[in-house]
Amino acid sequence: MKLIRLIYASAACTEMSYAELTTILRTAEAHNGQNGITGILCYGGGMFLQALEGERDVVNALYNRIVADRRHERCEILRYGRIATRRFEQWKMKYVGLDDPATAHRRDLVLRHSGTSHFSPIRMSGAQASALLFDLSHEFRIAA
Ligand code: FAD
Repeated sequence: MKLIRLIYASAACTEMSYAELTTILRTAEAHNGQNGITGILCYGGGMFLQALEGERDVVNALYNRIVADRRHERCEILRYGRIATRRFEQWKMKYVGLDDPATAHRRDLVLRHSGTSHFSPIRMSGAQASALLFDLSHEFRIAA
């Protein structure tokens, strides 16, 4: 099996409400669970940053569907490549929000990885985006 990880950034077409984000996540969890996809979805300041991991053909097909989704635009692939092991294996799709003031500590990670506390993933390199997502996921990782 050829495992790959795809990381992309995009801009929400309108500011996402909690209900809209929940709808996306429910769809993602149901579909991803059936198709061996794992990953993480980050949202803040009207921007998305998402990592999808799984079998190459399945990830490619999902990405093509996601790109066509009218809830966001300006999808840009930041990193795509073969992986030996998953980094987000615990989650069908982990959601990490960046807008809630209670999660201000996550801004420190954004600052560390992008040089600015303003979350603007479209401007990040692939290396910066992966490092940020890996660090954000540590907060939720359950020790095996
Ligand atoms: P359908 O459900 O038939 O939808 C067709 C189109 O209608 C969509 O492309 C969208 O433009 C629109 N639409 C659908 N539902 C709504 C709604 N509630 N409100 C407004 N417009 C709507 N799906 C996954 O399976 N896994 C993921 O990890 C995943 N991540 C996503 C991340 C982001 C940032 C976004 C915006 C969407 C994500 N989705 C994900 C959803 C994905 O884009 C598809 O909507 C979903 O996979 C269902 O595909 P479908 O072809 O059956 O579309």
